[in-house]
Amino acid sequence: MDPILEFIDVCFSYHSISGETPALAGISLSVLPGEFIAVVGPSGCGKTTLLSLISGLLTPESGEIRLFGKAQGTSGANIGYMLQKDHLFEWRTIYDNVLLGPQIRHSLTSKTKEQIGSMLNTYGLSAFKDSPPSALSGGMRQRAALIRTLALEPDLLLLDEPFSALDYQTRLEVGDDIGGILRREGKTALLVTHDLAEAITLADRVVILTHRPARVKKILSLHFEKTFDTPLKRRSAPCFSEYFDEIWKELKSNG
Ligand code: ADP
Repeated sequence: MDPILEFIDVCFSYHSISGETPALAGISLSVLPGEFIAVVGPSGCGKTTLLSLISGLLTPESGEIRLFGKAQGTSGANIGYMLQKDHLFEWRTIYDNVLLGPQIRHSLTSKTKEQIGSMLNTYGLSAFKDSPPSALSGGMRQRAALIRTLALEPDLLLLDEPFSALDYQTRLEVGDDIGGILRREGKTALLVTHDLAEAITLADRVVILTHRPARVKKILSLHFEKTFDTPLKRRSAPCFSEYFDEIWKELKSNG
């Protein structure tokens, strides 16, 4: 299987009047179709920079980023981005919020509307279709934000700390919820998080970064028995704490 995304020895620094801030130093990694990758690392190490490079907001200083085997910028890949804040517009109903992306892209067809209606239905939001975002709980809002992102049929979904604004209990529920939706929809996703438990419960592989400038310290493949097939169930798996300890040790011994 060919990777959807490849980083080949990617370096990036920020330049400002006060000087140069090296953020990424020789990052190499690849992501296969349908994989869920979590990226963890110390605060300020370069995780968001990594996502900005994938989405094309920033360009590598050296090295290469390939999407579907083609150079970033020429690949035509459709990339979805989900942030900490849901950025739903209060003056639009949930349905109109979810429709916004295809409307802006002039790609809204009756088929797209049908798919969006079906997702709202499947993921328990059809009763809130005509409500403003303020009528929804934090978890439901994040679900609506995810459907809005999925409505653009992204080839790759970038998630930047999407649950960190939620309280602990909601965060667990929403992580379970969103993780389940992405698996069912067969999406390839890259999640940036500082929450190690969240990384272990959601991902197929965890990329551990060093302090800034970030390098790949280790890539850990996670294997759970079939009975632990949801993020919440993974938390009670015997290997959960082993993975947690392993990642924690790697982060503590950061160079
Ligand atoms: P993380 O997401 O891991 O917290 P970031 O990728 O946001 O880290 O940032 C990596 C480093 O680059 C941080 O030290 C940050 O201060 C610096 N940085 C981020 N954006 C800019 C910018 N626009 N100009 C200068 N430095 C920046």
